[in-house]
Amino acid sequence: MSSFKDKVVIVTGASSGIGAATAVHLASLGGLLTIVGRNVDKLQETADNIVAAGGAPALLVQADMNNESDVEEIVKETLKKHGRVDVLVNNAGILETGTIENTSVAQYDRVMNTNVRALYQLTMLATPELIITKGCIVNVSSVNGIRSFPGVLAYNVSKAAVDQFTRCVALELAPKVVRVNSVNPGVIITDIHKRGGMDEATYQKFLEHSRTTHAMGRPGDVNEVAAAIAFLASDAASFTTGVSLAVDGGRHAMCPR
Ligand code: NAD
Repeated sequence: MSSFKDKVVIVTGASSGIGAATAVHLASLGGLLTIVGRNVDKLQETADNIVAAGGAPALLVQADMNNESDVEEIVKETLKKHGRVDVLVNNAGILETGTIENTSVAQYDRVMNTNVRALYQLTMLATPELIITKGCIVNVSSVNGIRSFPGVLAYNVSKAAVDQFTRCVALELAPKVVRVNSVNPGVIITDIHKRGGMDEATYQKFLEHSRTTHAMGRPGDVNEVAAAIAFLASDAASFTTGVSLAVDGGRHAMCPR
């Protein structure tokens, strides 16, 4: 794995799950991290884990991705401290359940604002800096962006938008040597499903069911996604742009039979 030595890396949603694991992993490879989240205590836990993993102390930015001026601060604070941005990992996201029969436009707005609009704004703001450094972007999409599942309609639409955004921005920035890719995880063990409304018993059943919905017979671990993000963000992926990389134990390739 190529080193991230002295690369300035922004990770959103870094206070838990995939974002926290990615921040720690990239810092352990030498990256200088800006970790972004709403909960300062949880962000501090990630910052402590970064130092414990041998990484340089991270810059903490408290930001609600749905607040435009908070999002502006992410790039401003990073530039104030490090003067550059090399890697943007757009990871913050939410999951809500709902079908076309019981969703609402309020749900659509919540999910699209967090998963798409905020990512759109932050990418817009980081792009001039990434052009200077010939940096790269990794978006955290989902297998739900490339396959269709009932019951999480707004989420599916949001992640399909993230994948289209990835490809379009990849084409726009390729001449400027900025690469843009996404990872598309299957079920990964984090708090997202419980935050999205599952109680503990339902979640355990869901994980058990994941043995049959993932070809590899299990849900994934945050570190497996962090490793894929690190690959796409590294020089090892220097000729890779516009891809949606499934990190899902083969789930995207499965069909009922
Ligand atoms: P998580 O809930 O632990 O992480 C999501 C993070 O985003 C949290 O830290 C949360 O606080 C943050 N966030 C949400 N809304 C925010 C806002 N308005 N402002 C600031 N931060 C906000 O869950 P996770 O599974 O680690 O999710 C990370 C990403 O991975 C999400 O984009 C999710 O859609 C994607 N993903 C997760 C799975 C899975 O099974 N866990 C599968 C596919 C994709």
